[in-house]
Amino acid sequence: MQIFTDPQALAAQCRAWHAAGEDIALVPTMGYYHAGHEDLMAHARGLARRLVVSLFVNPAQFGPNEDLESYPRDAARDSAIAESRGADALFMPEPGAMYAPDHATWVEVPQLAKGLCGASRPIHFRGVCTVVLKLFLLTGADVAVFGQKDWQQQAIIRRMARDLNVPTRIVARPTTREADGLAMSSRNVYLTPDERAVAPQIRAALLAARDAAVAGETDAGRLKALVLAHWAERLPGGQPDYLEIVHPESLEPLAVVDGPALMACAVRLGKARLIDNILLRS
Ligand code: AMP
Repeated sequence: MQIFTDPQALAAQCRAWHAAGEDIALVPTMGYYHAGHEDLMAHARGLARRLVVSLFVNPAQFGPNEDLESYPRDAARDSAIAESRGADALFMPEPGAMYAPDHATWVEVPQLAKGLCGASRPIHFRGVCTVVLKLFLLTGADVAVFGQKDWQQQAIIRRMARDLNVPTRIVARPTTREADGLAMSSRNVYLTPDERAVAPQIRAALLAARDAAVAGETDAGRLKALVLAHWAERLPGGQPDYLEIVHPESLEPLAVVDGPALMACAVRLGKARLIDNILLRS
């Protein structure tokens, strides 16, 4: 596995691979790998001849009061994992290599970024879209793999790629979970043992809502109330940031669950802000 810090060196290698008739899969990440990242890499490994993993804690997607500085990092361990998962290249640029001091160009999908996580993280998806498009342009990736844990993110990237005629195929993988149902996240390290013990209730409540939807409940308000009541009882210290039921592609809020519907949430628990989602109907 080659490690690249220089964007142009990565681009040159990717051009050489394409010139040799080899296709490229890309897995963009912020590092501190867990089994969810490894699943993305393992899946991507099977999609193309070459696998590029990027590891970049992208400053542009963090708001002023967010955890950019404290975001967990372990480059040595991550690079060993990427290599063990068959990456041909690991791209680990410094922020200054990705953003010129007078960087002025942003990619936005406001229609899909205004709700859910975007409501409390107004510049987040602009930062995500911009860096992901840069990665697509640098690598010319034929296919890129994202996780459904960040449902809104993959929906936005899909729309960006479609709207801008980006030829990269977007693939989304199901959420990898701990045995007790908690969605794996690099941010789970922020949880104290007590918080970790109750955190699976985030998912448990979403499962209860799906059960209710399957049993015939179509009223979005009642489905949300069921989840909030579950958390109030079994998730001490948990503060919902949002809980919404939306169309899985348009991300428009739904009042009635009578077709495809995604329930998505973010919950603050101690220092962590944890997100999860579930398809109530597909
Ligand atoms: P991150 O490093 O957290 O920015 O995530 C990098 C990629 O891994 C994104 O496409 C995420 O959606 C995906 N990812 C993160 N956690 C999980 C998980 N538990 N299951 C599946 N994919 C995940």
